[in-house]
Amino acid sequence: MSILNILEFPDPRLRRKAVSVELVDDTLRLLIDNMFETMYAAPGIGLAATQVDVHRRLLVADVSTEKDDPWVLINPIILERDGVEVTEEGCLSVPGYYESVERAEQVRVRYMDRNGEEQVSKFEGLLAICVQHEIDHLDGKLFVDYLSEAKRQRIRKRLLKDRKYRQEEQAAAV
Ligand code: ZN
Repeated sequence: MSILNILEFPDPRLRRKAVSVELVDDTLRLLIDNMFETMYAAPGIGLAATQVDVHRRLLVADVSTEKDDPWVLINPIILERDGVEVTEEGCLSVPGYYESVERAEQVRVRYMDRNGEEQVSKFEGLLAICVQHEIDHLDGKLFVDYLSEAKRQRIRKRLLKDRKYRQEEQAAAV
């Protein structure tokens, strides 16, 4: 298995809309395993394929503290939304920033699992928030899109500056 590179805001590749997965095979399952390894190592509780520059509708999540409750959602579609919840969210593609975002409290989702079997599950709590956040990624949407334009621009500038600094440091170290 290997750790994949995670794209960071404002990388334009994060804005691409992912296309449906046609075939659930061993190649896809290897990607799934690599996405889990990348997510656990980060560490994070969810990762969409878009974030690792694979523009297919696939996400992984595990909100458990023991990292023993892995979820794989392929071609997820939200069938029902219920209630409203405001949660402080972060994102592996927007490192270091946490902001309040309003989402549905519960969602019922149709998807395929890692064996290509169709499933319908109801998610609530943190997992519901996580699934909605990751499905947004597949549509090229980021949690910063829910913030004010001024706030989003501030985060954008800061992240670009941090990245430039890191690149200069790396260049200096060579
Ligand atoms: Zn994210």
